[in-house]
Amino acid sequence: MDVTCIICPNSCRISVSRPEGGGAPVIRGAECSKGISYAIEELDNPVRVLTSTVRVEGGTHRVVPVRTTSPIPKAKIGDCMKYIDSLAVSAPVAAGDVLSGDIAGTGVGMVATWTVQKRGRERE
Ligand code: SF4
Repeated sequence: MDVTCIICPNSCRISVSRPEGGGAPVIRGAECSKGISYAIEELDNPVRVLTSTVRVEGGTHRVVPVRTTSPIPKAKIGDCMKYIDSLAVSAPVAAGDVLSGDIAGTGVGMVATWTVQKRGRERE
């Protein structure tokens, strides 16, 4: 597989694969050891910080932006999005509020990244 390294602005294009039958990964295009580690992680266990929005009831806005507190496995993103789509929170919500301590069984939390006031209290 080909990946673009995001560790530094060089954005090296790296080719990484594992030989049939196993063994050490074959890596081409990485300019440094950080890129090699990144490419192997992308091959074996790709993870991402997930950002989305959650519905807010009774707020000045209908949704609040959220993100996971750390990266989650890419394979779990679908489960996490289903959970997020099913979730609704009551206003007020403050940036940094923990909206879930364990999103979709990943063991990773989810926090609001913005503040939504309670409707009718915008000037307080
Ligand atoms: S491989 Fe090294 S030099 Fe290239 S983008 Fe990644 S960190 Fe930067």
